Amino acid sequence: MGLNNIKIQKDFGKLKNWIGNKEVESKATQYMDLTTPYTGEVIGQVPMGTTADVAEAAKVAKAAFKVWSNTNIKERVQVMFKLKALMERDFEELKQLVSLENGKTLAEAHGDVAKAIEVLEFGCSIPNKVYAPMLEVSNGIYCQVIKEPVGVVASIVPFNFPIMCPMWTIPIALTVGNTMILKPSEQVPLGAIKLAKLLKEAGLPDGVLNVVHGGVDVVNAICDNTDIKALSFVGSTKVAKIVYGRAAMAGKRVLALGGAKNHLILMPDANPETAPSQIVDSAMGCAGQRCMAASVMVAVGNCDKHIEGMVAYAKSIKLGEKLGTVINKQSVERINNYITAAEKMGAKVLVDGRNQKPENSDIKGLEGGYWVGATLLDNVSPDMPAGCEEIFGPVLSIIRVNTIEEALKIENNNPYGNAASIFTTSGANAQYLFRNANAGMNGINVGVPVPREPFGFGGWNDSKFGNGDLTGDQGIDFWTQDRKITTKFIEPQVRNWMS
Ligand code: NAD
Repeated sequence: MGLNNIKIQKDFGKLKNWIGNKEVESKATQYMDLTTPYTGEVIGQVPMGTTADVAEAAKVAKAAFKVWSNTNIKERVQVMFKLKALMERDFEELKQLVSLENGKTLAEAHGDVAKAIEVLEFGCSIPNKVYAPMLEVSNGIYCQVIKEPVGVVASIVPFNFPIMCPMWTIPIALTVGNTMILKPSEQVPLGAIKLAKLLKEAGLPDGVLNVVHGGVDVVNAICDNTDIKALSFVGSTKVAKIVYGRAAMAGKRVLALGGAKNHLILMPDANPETAPSQIVDSAMGCAGQRCMAASVMVAVGNCDKHIEGMVAYAKSIKLGEKLGTVINKQSVERINNYITAAEKMGAKVLVDGRNQKPENSDIKGLEGGYWVGATLLDNVSPDMPAGCEEIFGPVLSIIRVNTIEEALKIENNNPYGNAASIFTTSGANAQYLFRNANAGMNGINVGVPVPREPFGFGGWNDSKFGNGDLTGDQGIDFWTQDRKITTKFIEPQVRNWMS
């Protein structure tokens, strides 16, 4: 692993928007340097787009909607089948792009692309799922429901999964007939451009998928644009709340997924051979930058043996090999500050990831990279910032309690609600968790309980604003509206109140 193993272009120049299936220069007056987190090296410039960029994309998407929504779904889905073949053809390049722009290890980047393809496979199955139910409700009178696209939609995504997060929405929203504006994170715009180019190659007509680069101004313009009828957002809770409110006020259908502080409960009866590494992997994988990462581990009773195993395993995780970088310099500082503050407040730093760099000297320029090593904090209390706030780094805070009831009380009190897991060999403990946890996605001996397709993805509480899940069947519901049709094909013999 490492930047030296990334064998792709490393200078992307001034990036352009993607509108009407071609590159279009942004109307931005400001550009942001795009860096690779491995070294801090500049690899391109991202336009900080404007309201005018969004208006241009929306106009093109609106015109494309007329044609695309009237294209039969069995024809639309062929583009998705071709996209799958193309993503598999270019799997290696996609992986390398993700690694380059996001700092994931190549193995983690593999996971990002593989999960994206899994959602795409679900998208390919949609024509077999959305056929219309019909019932003869009175003699000769039929009621029917048809799922129709909502129009021009938008998808705003975060930095942590450059391919998967866009692909949570693209295959579903487009297959059901919408046209889309995708707003990638300005920190990882390259994956989105590659996806747009692959979709063109797969035969997607002009204007069906458009990419507008930028930050706050583009997001605000998307929320306000009246041609855009529905919007999904994935990112931090702070911004999810803003976007949810602003877009809903503008009359849009909105689903906004936010941040998380996931609790994992360790029982003394958990398997001591497997639980320690699984728990540490949940917290440290993707450098802790997963909305499903374990962030707090509540150890119930005497779990010292397991915690010793966790310390040994965490110390064996080599930076630059099994652990990639975090996204930027500010993240390194934020994460280090959480560790230092917890230490000052009485937490014990069992494994310290501050000021670490990879030992692997073949990664040139790594001194400038955004590295934080695996960190384990013990004796954290729920009111310390490390015990209750989203750190979004490779840090696991251990809170010690005596009973499972106390553990669930701590979990219940946190405002988020993405994931909650338990490690135990007791069915009763497992059941206690999923009857009482205040989180939408639960794991029993699973550290990262992401539901795989066809199950939908979505948390509760401050981890999600809006109704339903983003993927799975509820994703289809979100990107469609039901048309209810009542038909009288023949004059009924018996007249009643419907005649
Ligand atoms: P972020 O909220 O900073 O950014 C997300 C998107 O919003 C980006 O496209 C960004 O350009 C835009 N944005 C940023 N600040 C904005 C503002 N003030 N107004 C309007 N738009 C703004 O999130 P991030 O740092 O890119 O991603 C990490 C966060 O995403 C974490 O909190 C993580 O938990 C969360 N996340 C959640 C899920 C989930 O499914 N719940 C999945 C992935 C990531």
